[in-house]
Amino acid sequence: MAMLRAVKTAFLPRFSSLISTARSVSTLVVAEHEGGAIKGPSISAVEAAKALGDGNLISILVAGSGPSLQEAAAHAASCHPSISQVLVAYSDKFTHSLAEPWARLVHLVQQKGGYSHILAAANSFGKNILPRAAALLDVSPITDVIDISGSSQFVRPIYAGNALCTVRYTGTSPCMLTIRSTSFPVPAISADTKSNEARISQVDLSTFGEDSVGKSRYVQHTSQDTERPDLGSARIVVTGGRGLKSAENFKMIEKLAEKLGAAVGATRAAVDAGFVPNDLQVGQTGKIVAPELYMAFGVSGAIQHIAGMRDSRVIVAVNKDSDAPIFQVADYGLVGDLFEVIPELLEKLPEKK
Ligand SMILES: Cc1cc2nc3c(=O)[nH]c(=O)nc-3n(C[C@H](O)[C@H](O)[C@H](O)COP(=O)(O)OP(=O)(O)OC[C@H]3O[C@@H](n4cnc5c(N)ncnc54)[C@H](O)[C@@H]3O)c2cc1C
Repeated sequence: MAMLRAVKTAFLPRFSSLISTARSVSTLVVAEHEGGAIKGPSISAVEAAKALGDGNLISILVAGSGPSLQEAAAHAASCHPSISQVLVAYSDKFTHSLAEPWARLVHLVQQKGGYSHILAAANSFGKNILPRAAALLDVSPITDVIDISGSSQFVRPIYAGNALCTVRYTGTSPCMLTIRSTSFPVPAISADTKSNEARISQVDLSTFGEDSVGKSRYVQHTSQDTERPDLGSARIVVTGGRGLKSAENFKMIEKLAEKLGAAVGATRAAVDAGFVPNDLQVGQTGKIVAPELYMAFGVSGAIQHIAGMRDSRVIVAVNKDSDAPIFQVADYGLVGDLFEVIPELLEKLPEKK
């Protein structure tokens, strides 16, 4: 008996630091904002946090400077009924989402809050910051999570989406995850739950480690002004591949997208050939999309491309090669010349209202 007690005491401290029951789950969602609003993928990370356990206290962290941060904090307080607290870090060190100061900020907030989980979206913001923060906190992050069962079991795709890997986290707190936003769509929030505003409090930055500042600096941001919907969240995506043959011909894809109110996507071959900029690339090394309708023209369907669009609800493919692998994932396929099919579609589709 005495020996048993001795063994128990010796092991207790180690086990008590493990992620334990659902009762002790508290989550920090590291959020990105733009134009005074929390971005959709960060709200999906909040949606994912709900699956970590009942009674999960969800806090959201926003940082930056100026009036747009204040607006973003107000939006964070009301954008999802499960958020109980908004933490706001006011400093121009965080304005441009540089990984070094942001990772240090996450480290500081974790030291004060002792969260069991820290989540961010698996987009360029989250992929840049979260692993660096995990290294500072000396834990192993789990990336691109598509399913959550309880507080320590997660599913993530591997080998360009050709295998699903179930991971059990047995490390110390915090368990850090990046979330694939297309796997956690946010349901429309009703008016009565919206009135449930979360508390807003400011992060005390007096002990912030300045050693993280100045290691990188923001130079400039260039983006294409377009009225088309964002590729990551569009309901319809029209994608062109190498089959389009030139940047000039690719304009047909843009015209079709415009008529359908769709976003434009591209394969890596189309990007490498200079038809379109690389932020339109769909796939393993580009964006992951899961629209209601995905239309692929002159796309062969390489595994690296399929990895980015296979979860689309309806997939339509037009290719002149009946053996093209894209037809294995397409719900509707047309073997034909895209230079005949697209003009016909443009002619037959009704004008956009
Ligand atoms: C590490 C790694 C990462 C990668 N990441 C990505 C990624 O993120 N996204 C991505 O897309 N690729 C990625 N790739 C590249 C990928 O392997 C393929 O090379 C690429 O997807 C091929 O693009 P494509 O389908 O446009 O071109 P192709 O494979 O050349 O296919 C063109 C298709 O157009 C058809 N076609 C030609 N003319 C016509 C016509 N007139 N009418 C109808 N059909 C026509 C042809 O039959 C053919 O099937 C990656 C590769 C590697 C090695």
